[in-house]
Amino acid sequence: MSMTPLFGHQELRDRLNSAIATDRLPQVLLLTGPSGVGKQRLALWLAQRLLCERGLPEPCGECGACRRTLDLVHPDLHWFVPVPRPKAGDADKQVEEVAESLEAALADRRAGGQWGSPDGMASHGIASARLLQRRAGLTAAEGGWRVFVVGHAERLVPQESSPEAANALLKLLEEPPARALFLLTAPEAGLVLTTIRSRAVPVRVGRLADADVRAWAAAAGVATDELAIRAAGGAIGRLGRGGADPQGGAARRVLEAVDGGPAARARAALGQGVSQARGDFTALLDALAVELAEQARSASAGGRWPAAGRAAAGVELVLETRERAQGNVNPQLALAVLMDDLAALEAA
Ligand SMILES: [Zn+2]
Repeated sequence: MSMTPLFGHQELRDRLNSAIATDRLPQVLLLTGPSGVGKQRLALWLAQRLLCERGLPEPCGECGACRRTLDLVHPDLHWFVPVPRPKAGDADKQVEEVAESLEAALADRRAGGQWGSPDGMASHGIASARLLQRRAGLTAAEGGWRVFVVGHAERLVPQESSPEAANALLKLLEEPPARALFLLTAPEAGLVLTTIRSRAVPVRVGRLADADVRAWAAAAGVATDELAIRAAGGAIGRLGRGGADPQGGAARRVLEAVDGGPAARARAALGQGVSQARGDFTALLDALAVELAEQARSASAGGRWPAAGRAAAGVELVLETRERAQGNVNPQLALAVLMDDLAALEAA
């Protein structure tokens, strides 16, 4: 079974193609955009574009390299997604465990259709970084490009326990080997560690047109109707879930509470569980940053500068909280403080 074809993003594909044609494609790209718009799928399209034996602006889909890419078995395509923390104590065993988790995730994705968000506690930890370095150190199996896709790069966690592995990863992104391409994806650039982000060229991936969502559903065999297509808001990942976006919904409720006064804020903070600071709470903060960044973009597109400035300052506050949340914080307290700070921005 192969992956469903990529629909939409034509303008972006054209831009990437002209960068390839003029030999100016940066070797480290950070693809950002709302959840479910197909950032990782676009990264795989770019991989296929470079690996295709015919080298056309649109990969042929028929050559051996295209087929291996679409079946996710191409030896020069390395797709990393967040995985559960390995249980083994030994570093080599941890790397093996991560490789097995990745293989299981790929098996799921080979089945076609949509793939969900990773579990809240899954991340790209030290063992994933080691595996990436190991694979990046090999030569191309088929003699051409090697493409490394790192989905949910916002889940790349700081590697305090092993600074040498963290530095090796940064060095790899700083000076990538010849004909190696690193494609990182995240909802917002601000969610990615500064050290990683500063080494990547940002590329914005926008929402799809409804026609593309419709075409995708037909190709993937996902039963849907016009209401569901509109509810998906240009994000295939939301289709068939009644437009459901649980973290986005939770983020919007938090922002309503910010506007709703002290009592509403206290209720919202109490609604946040005290445990899982790194899992669910981080996911909520990610969604809040995405929501506020979208508000900032739409306000600035509409020339509403004060609102754009407030939303952008809100993103910064969320990112600061997110950084603290990597340590030992009480999510209820952190959320209460954050909501008060956001409310103060509104009042200013
Ligand atoms: Zn091909």
